[in-house]
Amino acid sequence: MAGGFSSQILDEIRSGVDMVELVGQSVNLKRAGENWKGLCPFHAEKTPSFTVNPKRGIFHCFGCGVGGDAFGFLMRQDRLAFPEAVRALAQRAGVELPTQRSPETDGKLEGLRRVMALAAQFYTDALWAHDGAKARAYVESRGVDLEVARRFGLGYAPEGWNALLSHMAKEGVSDAELVSAGLALPRQNAPGFYDRFRGRLLFPIRDPQARVVAFGGRAMGAEEPKYLNSPETPLYVKGQMLYALDVAREGMRQKNRAVVVEGYLDCLMAHQHGFTETVAALGTAFTAAQLALLRRYADEVVSVFDADAAGQKATSRLEEMLTDVMDLRNLGWSVSRTGSFEKAGYFPIKVAVLPEGHDPDSLLRAEGAQALQSRLDAARSILDFVLERALGEEDLTTPRGRSTAHARVALILSRVPNAEEATALAREAARKLGVDATQLWIEAQQLQGARARKGGQDRPAAPAGPTGSSQAWPAPSLSERDLLLMLLHTEEARTGLLPYLEEVQIVHPGLRAVLGALRRAPEGIAPEGLMAELPGEAERSLLAALLVEQREWSDIHIQVTELQKRYDIRRRKQRIRELSLAIAQAQATGDPAVASLQAELRSLQDQAQAVRGMVTGR
Ligand SMILES: [Zn+2]
Repeated sequence: MAGGFSSQILDEIRSGVDMVELVGQSVNLKRAGENWKGLCPFHAEKTPSFTVNPKRGIFHCFGCGVGGDAFGFLMRQDRLAFPEAVRALAQRAGVELPTQRSPETDGKLEGLRRVMALAAQFYTDALWAHDGAKARAYVESRGVDLEVARRFGLGYAPEGWNALLSHMAKEGVSDAELVSAGLALPRQNAPGFYDRFRGRLLFPIRDPQARVVAFGGRAMGAEEPKYLNSPETPLYVKGQMLYALDVAREGMRQKNRAVVVEGYLDCLMAHQHGFTETVAALGTAFTAAQLALLRRYADEVVSVFDADAAGQKATSRLEEMLTDVMDLRNLGWSVSRTGSFEKAGYFPIKVAVLPEGHDPDSLLRAEGAQALQSRLDAARSILDFVLERALGEEDLTTPRGRSTAHARVALILSRVPNAEEATALAREAARKLGVDATQLWIEAQQLQGARARKGGQDRPAAPAGPTGSSQAWPAPSLSERDLLLMLLHTEEARTGLLPYLEEVQIVHPGLRAVLGALRRAPEGIAPEGLMAELPGEAERSLLAALLVEQREWSDIHIQVTELQKRYDIRRRKQRIRELSLAIAQAQATGDPAVASLQAELRSLQDQAQAVRGMVTGR
């Protein structure tokens, strides 16, 4: 049993999921013999070291060392808990899960999801029902095709104080559940509750699994606030999600680009005009977590800014974003040696600025797709943009302006983790400022040092490296590794050697855990089935690494026999040591058992002699 699921059920699900198809949704995989390879979605790399073995249903990255089975992949990619991954894959594989009591928090999340799903259905029905005519008219007046409205699952919260409350009561949802889902509020001066969303057009916000987790509600008239959003709930954490991610996934993959806009309507309009790779940031700044989400689907992000916003507060916002980005260890900036950082090698983030007075919605409606396209084409690297802003906002003709600009640029540079990139940027900025690049660079270094000493969130990011607790492990010895490989890959080694093996014989902690799982596993279980039996991420990654290794096992029988002999000798030697000790003790205490112990010892020694003779061929 793992996470409350039986190993048979997990096996059934695992074998019903095509790993290449599952991983292939977010990683471009190419066939390489028995395996498939692609760029690792979990670390930045330029040559593919991410490997999927469809036969075993596992993945492993030779670059960062992560690995596991379908459950592990989904948990890592979509940030799911194990039971959630099991449920998602069970559905995919068409395997029915036995109904059982899930752990409390898990059950609570499931309950909230059910409430959100029911509410979403209620709101959608309301939009397309007779009474939704006003809302539909509003949607059309905003230029949104009704087909697009359907695709995005728009809804309508009817007027009145308890339309949702009374509907949900019929569904058996309690008022308290609606409150914890953020859909109802307790009355201020009287007992009872009222609907949070009333007379608004609703935009459902879905998680990467396309489950509704929150709503954004837009006023259709002059009422305030213009936008009313769900509060944070256990399902919805601000800054962790992107609006329309589930709809835009495919487009992002196809175009290998993500476009990030600010508003729901901007996003809908962009899709309607063919920019199907568009998501909305659901907030003011966009966060490292959101960038990490996008990185799974595309190699480039273009953030679209209104000219006003870009003029007024974009710089500080982008500087903030920059810090966030730098905190993501694996998202590097790549700057070519010539100092032009437009052709960044991996995950460049660009900024597209719209013409004065426009947001994407109004621009598309007024001038069509081509107008947005040309702005996207003209998008510039975020660093380039931020540096230029920092320079542009100061009056460089005055000494004071120059020194402020100088300080700001040094601060921005100090956040760039890669020395080569920072040097290139320093050169560029110094040229514009008319100062010495070396001086700027030294100041940036000093600032970086000061931040590092201060510690905390704001220190420069460490270079990319392997993640997970396996970092702490030393590399296993070759002989231990080979032994486990043989056990995992051949039935003959398992039947022949497992009876001789005990965990204590293995020094490496990870391999020891794998051996333990093998020994405890029911007979005939496929090695990939051990995944769920292992205690942690690091152990599962190690198992995946061993399972993807391809090797010929032609002389397996000889190897197994040799090892059996060796283990046999080791076991006898151990027994001889034990016997010698027991004899010494028996002699000291005058125990009559001494004679029989001595007889056993002699016979063992004789046998050992014989076996040694066989082994060495004497
Ligand atoms: Zn990797």
